[in-house]
Amino acid sequence: MKLIFLGPPGAGKGTMAKRLASHGGMAHISTGDLFREAVAQGTDLGKQVKSILDRGDLVPDEVTVKLVQERIGRPDCRRGFILDGFPRTIPQAEALDRLSPPDLAVNFVLADDEVVKRLSGRRLCPSCGKTFHILFVPPRKPDICDGCGTGLVIRKDDQVEAIRNRLAVYKAQTEPLEAHYRDLGILRNIDAAPDPEKVFAALKTALGV
Ligand code: ADP
Ligand code: ADP
Ligand code: ZN
Repeated sequence: MKLIFLGPPGAGKGTMAKRLASHGGMAHISTGDLFREAVAQGTDLGKQVKSILDRGDLVPDEVTVKLVQERIGRPDCRRGFILDGFPRTIPQAEALDRLSPPDLAVNFVLADDEVVKRLSGRRLCPSCGKTFHILFVPPRKPDICDGCGTGLVIRKDDQVEAIRNRLAVYKAQTEPLEAHYRDLGILRNIDAAPDPEKVFAALKTALGV
């Protein structure tokens, strides 16, 4: 199955994509993770995108599509993939429709005030990529990753200024994708507000797995 995950920043796309990928044997591709990795490694791509990520703006379509095209061509994607955070613009969606059209677009629906609560309490493991929340998904030991014991960090774009910008960018550039996939008949809305167990159950029901 080829899936894309839509929804505002903080809706829980990454959390659900990781669970579903380990449950269903699909590749999990987060463009945000790929860009952050490039920044951490100081590659040319990383240097190009660092300030864009910090502000919460979007990386240019050309750069993003090229990265995804290369990634979905790898062998681990033959059994299907979950694109988490891609596409985010109409030109990206049209490029994907040409390259490898998705079977379903899952749209995680969450109100703005909940988005702000989720992003402002998010903590990331810089080593294994696991995500926690100080109130909603707390690690067993404060500020330490349950998975690998590394100290958790706050993403630079989870500061209040960048959060506001990301929400505005989402509404202007990404929300129009809902209509794109509704018109193709493959949009599935999921209420992202309940606790993670309930959201995951609703996701499996929507996918029929
Ligand atoms: P996204 O990938 O959509 O930006 P994340 O998966 O990183 O979202 O989740 C954002 C934050 O909300 C993280 O801190 C995560 O631990 C937390 N979170 C994820 N799903 C839920 C949920 N169903 N209820 C409460 N908090 C959640
Ligand atoms: P979140 O799910 O919290 O919004 P992501 O980890 O998906 O954040 O993305 C982090 C940042 O990476 C975005 O704010 C943007 O700068 C960049 N990015 C990720 N995916 C894309 C994309 N499809 N197009 C352009 N920029 C992207
Ligand atoms: Zn970890």
